[in-house]
Amino acid sequence: MDAVDPSTPSIDDDLCTGCGDCVAVCPAESLALREERAIIIHPEDCWYCGDCEEMCPVGAISRSFEITFADGT
Ligand code: SF4
Ligand code: SF4
Repeated sequence: MDAVDPSTPSIDDDLCTGCGDCVAVCPAESLALREERAIIIHPEDCWYCGDCEEMCPVGAISRSFEITFADGT
């Protein structure tokens, strides 16, 4: 079993419908569709922007933690 990498979003295969919205929105081109499911093909390029998480209509992709700034900006 693969270890979960907390530095990239996780994708729930059971929820993902393969719509491709996250692939289209990812500015780093980290995502792709394979067998009608989203996968992360370039985890090293992901900068954790969260666009994929916001775009997914079924909540299948999520970041395991949020980055917040201590000064509130
Ligand atoms: S968090 Fe941003 S850069 Fe990373 S996979 Fe999602 S849309 Fe792409
Ligand atoms: S936006 Fe959500 S449902 Fe659509 S391909 Fe991406 S993870 Fe799957």
